[in-house]
Amino acid sequence: MAQPLSDPPRAYADVVARIGRAAQAVGRDPAAVSLVAVSKQQPWEAIAPVLAAGQRIFGENRVQDAMTRWEGRAAGLTLHLIGPLQSNKAADAVAFFDVVETLDRERLAAALAREIDRQGRRPRLYVQVNTGEEPQKAGVIPAGADAFIAACRGPHGLEIEGLMCIPPFGEPSGPHFALLGRIAARNGLAKLSMGMSDDFETAIRFGATSVRVGSAVFGARA
Ligand SMILES: *Cc1c(COP(=O)(O)O)cnc(C)c1O
Repeated sequence: MAQPLSDPPRAYADVVARIGRAAQAVGRDPAAVSLVAVSKQQPWEAIAPVLAAGQRIFGENRVQDAMTRWEGRAAGLTLHLIGPLQSNKAADAVAFFDVVETLDRERLAAALAREIDRQGRRPRLYVQVNTGEEPQKAGVIPAGADAFIAACRGPHGLEIEGLMCIPPFGEPSGPHFALLGRIAARNGLAKLSMGMSDDFETAIRFGATSVRVGSAVFGARA
């Protein structure tokens, strides 16, 4: 894990520059890759300078923590839920988040569909794929992804924007990113949320349209 950073705006600027270079290196438009700055478990003193530097897209892994941190501060921001979501928190998630990246089971699809209808708010949705088929990790397994996406779109009437994955720790990420890209392509999905502090440049090479970067922007979490 990264060391605490003494200069968050410089770290932020570095990450933005690295995203741009990684995109250009594979002939992609840097503007086609968005940075989700993962502010989970960060003190406000680490977040404020990054906000002041112009970052407007933030990621959080817990509904309640995010609401506490961003309540009253969320105007003009785009907030992503990137952590597991319990069906019984679907109402809060739909009310609060602009993007939910962790849709991975029918019960949750049903709960989100119900709340979207009820609230008339429509967060953008990503299906999380457990590309490494790790038992402890959330996400649909790759072999079940097509059927799950079809169920979200059909019976549950949800619009799916893209796919998200978190490759297994300590394994090369590239094959996982490639797999996510193939699943997206055959399901007509153009958006890929993949890549974190240690591998976001690799993810961009494999077609990431958003990268979720925490410690490289803000420093190590508490
Ligand atoms: C914490 C987290 C990140 C950011 O991780 P870093 O290694 O700090 O960049 C990205 N994605 C998810 C789903 C996370 O939980």
